[in-house]
Amino acid sequence: MAVFNPQQLQELEQQAKRNRGHFSHEQLDELQSQLSCDLDMLLKALLPVAATFSQAPISHFNVGAVAFDKTTGSAYLGANLEFSHQALSLVVHAEQSAINNAWLHGAKEISRMAISDAPCGYCRQFMNELDKSAELAIMLPTLNTSLAELLPSAFGPQDLDNSQRLMASSTSHLDSLSHEISDTLKVHLQNAYAPYSGNLSAVEISTQSHGQFYGRYAENAAYSPSLSPMQGALSQLALAGLKLDEIVISAITLVETKGHENQKAVADAVLQSYATDAKLTHVLAEFNS
Ligand SMILES: [Zn+2]
Repeated sequence: MAVFNPQQLQELEQQAKRNRGHFSHEQLDELQSQLSCDLDMLLKALLPVAATFSQAPISHFNVGAVAFDKTTGSAYLGANLEFSHQALSLVVHAEQSAINNAWLHGAKEISRMAISDAPCGYCRQFMNELDKSAELAIMLPTLNTSLAELLPSAFGPQDLDNSQRLMASSTSHLDSLSHEISDTLKVHLQNAYAPYSGNLSAVEISTQSHGQFYGRYAENAAYSPSLSPMQGALSQLALAGLKLDEIVISAITLVETKGHENQKAVADAVLQSYATDAKLTHVLAEFNS
């Protein structure tokens, strides 16, 4: 088994914080030669780094996940994120966090996932929405397996006649907005994945000293494991080692598709678990059909 020593882990944690949990192909090559190991062993060796970004005030159970994007050869960390005093169904699981991180950074094909613990049923279902999920390799601490083995007789997008897949959906074309939003938020909005509700939606959290953080809606054929834009954006904040109520927030913007809105209540609920008076600006978008 390949492992990093405590000093290396600390350096990797700092590096991950700066890059919001992204390791480039070059960085992975260098780390692989440091440990003299293969890619799968390296992805597993990065799990303790991923788990340091966990915020789990309820379970105190820190989970790390690492998603590998075949198209760019880079890796993305993920960690679980829990919200105090909110329904447990709002929790972001580490696997969702890693996939969301990869997706927001432009990854096109997750071919391998390393996870510090066996994925729960909810995460198996979430991963099943990915393009080429049938070929997804899963590396657990004591077992290398695949999603196909972990989720036989799966229910997926095809059962709802949806030919799109998470990370392989087409870009929608924005027609009009009720308020002006940033160009980056527009890009995230147009690349959200909402084949079931039709609510293309995205969030931008602007901070005073740490830049912007984004989330986009990632729906799932089984509905429940869908990841809301606000959950996604807060997970991004966590991967930069930040918490909403420990930094100065200049603005939070939620944009949804007019006539299909379903995110305002969940965004407000999640925000209420933080001691912040940051106000949510709600914007409605219309798309060319
Ligand atoms: Zn899970």
